[in-house]
Amino acid sequence: MTLDTGYVVKTNINKIFRQMPVLLHQLDIELTERCNYGCIHCYINRPSGDREALRRELDTAQVKRILDEAAAIGVLTVRLTGGEVLLRRDFAELYLYARGLGLRVLIYTNGSLITPELADLFARVPPLEKIEITSYGMHAESYEAVTTVRDSFKDFRRGIKLLLERRIPFLVKGMLLPQNINEVEVFDAWAKTLPDMDSAPSYDVTVTMRGRRDSDAKNKMIERLRAAPNQVLPVVSRDREAYLKEMKSFCSQFLGPHGDKLFTCGAGSSSVSVDAYGTLQPCMKLRQPGMGYDLKSGTITDALTKVFPHLKEMRATNPDYLARCAKCFLRALCEQCPAMSWMETGTLDTPVEYLCQATHAKAVDLGLLDLGEKGWEVSNWKERIDRMSPAREIPISHQSKGEKDL
Ligand code: SF4
Ligand code: SF4
Repeated sequence: MTLDTGYVVKTNINKIFRQMPVLLHQLDIELTERCNYGCIHCYINRPSGDREALRRELDTAQVKRILDEAAAIGVLTVRLTGGEVLLRRDFAELYLYARGLGLRVLIYTNGSLITPELADLFARVPPLEKIEITSYGMHAESYEAVTTVRDSFKDFRRGIKLLLERRIPFLVKGMLLPQNINEVEVFDAWAKTLPDMDSAPSYDVTVTMRGRRDSDAKNKMIERLRAAPNQVLPVVSRDREAYLKEMKSFCSQFLGPHGDKLFTCGAGSSSVSVDAYGTLQPCMKLRQPGMGYDLKSGTITDALTKVFPHLKEMRATNPDYLARCAKCFLRALCEQCPAMSWMETGTLDTPVEYLCQATHAKAVDLGLLDLGEKGWEVSNWKERIDRMSPAREIPISHQSKGEKDL
C-alpha cells in the first residue's frame, strides 16, 4: 500500500524492488590500472605514466554516465579501486559526483597519494564507507621491498596521519608476502591503535597471477612469492576462536559438490565490475577477452538482463575439472573459479593446484579431511559437513595441525 501524505510518500520496499530491472547493491569501478607503486606481487598494475593506458581509460564524462546509471538502478555503494585510484586527476570530481548522487563510496587505496586537500574533502563530504588501505610492511625496508618505490613507506604513513588528524574512518589490511610474513604481530599491534579497527586486520593470502596474462616473467616472480599452507594457516586463524566460529557457520551452510556448473558465485548478477576501459566484467578478476560487455555503447541493465544470465548455464568440459572440482565437496571453501583458472592457465575450467593445496590444508586443519585424503574422493561428505555444526567441537588434534604438520 502506498500512503501519500502530501510531501512524504511511504511505499512498500518489496514494491520498489519489484520495479527494479536488476538488483545490484554494489558496483565496482576500477578507475585505472596505473599505479604509483610497482608491487612485486601485483596482478594488474601498469606504470603511472603508461600512455597506452591513459589513452584508453574512461574519461570523466564516461565514468559519470556509469555512476548515473548505477544510482538509477538502485546501487547503494560504488567501490572505486585500481591500480591506484588517487592517480586519476579527476578523482575528487568523480568522488563528489558519486556522493552527490547519494552513492556511498568505498575507496581502495595504498594511501600514499592522500593529500591535505583530499583529506579535507573526505572530512567535509564523508565517503560513508571506511576507506580501505593496504599495508605492505611495517618498516620501510619490508614495505619498500614490496612496493619497489623509495620513500613509499613515508608517504603511506603520511596518508594515514592525514586521515587520523581529521578522524576520517578507515581500516588497514595486509598482503601476506615473504617480505612481511614476520611482521604479523607488529601489524596487529599497530592496527589495534587505530580508532576504526573493530577486529584484527585481514590479510590477503592468495597471490594471484596477472589478470590480463600479460607477462610470463612477472608471473614467474609472483609464483615464487606464494606462502606455503603451513605459513598461511597460522596467520588466517590467529584469532582461533573467531576463525573456527566463522568457518563452522560457512562450511555448514555452503559445502558440498557443485557439479559441472562453472559459475556458482554471483559473477554477472550480484557482483559486476567495470574495468578502467569501460568493459563491464562479470567479476573483478575475470578478464578473459569476450566475457565482458562494453559499457561505452551499452548499459549495465542490458548486460545484467540480456548478456550475463548465460553464465549460469556454462558448464565445465575439462576432464580433470570434471573428475575433481565437479565432485569435490570442498568447492565453496576453495578459491577455484573460472577467473582464477583463467589467470593461472588461460582456460576457465582447469583446477588450480596452488588453490587446491591451500584448500586441502585448510580442510585437514578443520577436521574435514584426514592427511592425504582428497576432497573429490570423499563419499561421506555429508557426515563431514555435520561435524562443522556450530554446536560441535573440532578435535584439538585437528586444530593444531595448521601450525605443525601441513
Ligand atoms: S599499490 Fe596495489 S595496485 Fe599499486 S602496485 Fe601495489 S598492489 Fe598493485
Ligand atoms: S580443492 Fe581442488 S578439487 Fe576441490 S574445488 Fe578446489 S581445486 Fe577443485
